[in-house]
Parts: sequence; C-alpha cells; structure tokens
Amino acid sequence: GYQNDEISVPDYTETELITDAFNKMLARMKVLDESRSEFVSNVSHELKTPMTSMKVLADSLVGQQGVPEELYQEFLQDITAEIDRENRIITDLLSLVKMDKKTADLSIQHMDINQLLEDILKRLRPIADKRSIDLILDSFRPVEADVDEIKFTSAISNLVENAIKYNVDDGWVRVSIDADHKYFYVTVADSGMGIPEDSLERIFERFYRVDKSHSREIGGTGLGLAITRSTIAMHHGVIKVFSREGEGTTFSVRIPLSYIP
Ligand code: ADP
Repeated sequence: GYQNDEISVPDYTETELITDAFNKMLARMKVLDESRSEFVSNVSHELKTPMTSMKVLADSLVGQQGVPEELYQEFLQDITAEIDRENRIITDLLSLVKMDKKTADLSIQHMDINQLLEDILKRLRPIADKRSIDLILDSFRPVEADVDEIKFTSAISNLVENAIKYNVDDGWVRVSIDADHKYFYVTVADSGMGIPEDSLERIFERFYRVDKSHSREIGGTGLGLAITRSTIAMHHGVIKVFSREGEGTTFSVRIPLSYIP
C-alpha cells in the first residue's frame, strides 16, 4: 500500500503536467489560429476595397454611348490608380510573408550608414519640398555597420516617408545617426500630427492605421511599419516609438554594429 502510493504520486503529477502543457499548447494554437483568420480577413478586405472601386468605375463606362472623352479619361485614370494601389498591397504582403517564413535571408554588407541616410533623404527631398517640409540630417559621428543595404534602406525610408506623410505643411523631419561601441542608433522625428496614446501599441500591427481613410488617401497600405519592424528584428535590432498628439512623433531604432547570424 504505502510504497505504491508513493510511486503513484509522481505518476499522477506527471500526467497533470502533461495535461497542463497540452492545454497551454491548445490555447496557443487557438490564439495563432484566431490571428491567422483575422489576418486573412484583413487581407481580403484590403484587396477588395480597390477592386470594388474599379468595378464601379468600369461598370459606369461599359455599354454607355457617348461618354464624354474627358470623363472617360478621368475614370480610366482612377482605375489605374486603384490598380497601382492593389499592386502596392500585394507587393507589401509578399515581402511580409517572405520575412515570416524566414526565407528572406539578409545580404549583409559593411556599409557607411551616414551615406545610406544621406541617399535616403536626397531621394525623398522632392516629396518633402512639395509641402515645404524641412528634411534635416544630424550626423553625430561617422558610422559603419553590417546591414542589408536594400532592406535597411527601405525600412528607414518607410519611417521618413511616414514622417513626411503624417506631417503638417511647413513642418520638419529630423533624422539622426549616432553610435556607441556596440550599437548604432537612428532616430526619425517629425513635427506632425502625432499618434494617440491608445494607438501607440498597435501601429506596428499589419493593416492597423490610426485613420484608415486618411492613410488610404495618401496611398498607405497599413503594412509599412510591420515590414520595418520585421526588417529591424532580422538585423537583431529594436524599434520604439514616442509620440504626443498634435506635436509630433519620434521613431528610434537601435541595431548592433556587427551582424552575428
Ligand atoms: P500606412 O501605409 O498607413 O502609412 P504604416 O504601417 O506605415 O501604414 O503606419 C501605420 C499607421 O501608423 C499609419 O496609418 C498612421 O496612422 C500611423 N503613423 C505612422 N507613422 C506616423 C507618423 N510619423 N506620425 C503619425 N502617425 C504615424
């Protein structure tokens, strides 16, 4: 009797442990499954929106006699814009899916980061100029680090593009670069509309936008920050955001100087 009891106690505990682990796994799978179906439903919705507009525009031309040439051209232009939008969403989705699968291997090179940032600002300056937004680069020291040139450039470009998009006319965007012995730091600060406190946690989620219609209007897919965060994580870095509504937003990125796979 007594000895058997002693043996059965650890057995019972082990079963309990396994049951517990199994239940936890089921719960996690349920969460994953829910977030997957949410993602699929978001994707479908986002892809359907431009499609619906195209359909409406095309329907209003099909079989119509004597549509004025001007109107005809205008609707065709609108359809082309919707196709561009659909393409942007698909391109962004593909690059996200690739990163998820970890098939997106980095092509790491030792690069002059100051130069990369200068190139990014040079490319975006015409867009900023259109709204008289000042683009400023503060280089606190020369920085060389291991990055994937294309992916790093597009991650930082996305932050600067957002800083312009969600800014006010005559505002400013300030990009800074600094480093210590281990990491380099890039910040992108703007004088824009800012992000409400309760949205700050969510802006890196796929398709999350503070203002859907405004974001769409200015050509956003809602995937940019999700891609940026994945890219920075692939470089073993971190990204943080600070914001005050009506005053502006600062994104700060920290990436190790040397890439260790
Ligand atoms: P989008 O394509 O909509 O710009 P992102 O993933 O790049 O998508 O950004 C998600 C949302 O975060 C944007 O829709 C916007 O609401 C908010 N956001 C991003 N950057 C800024 C910024 N610099 N200032 C204010 N809001 C921003």
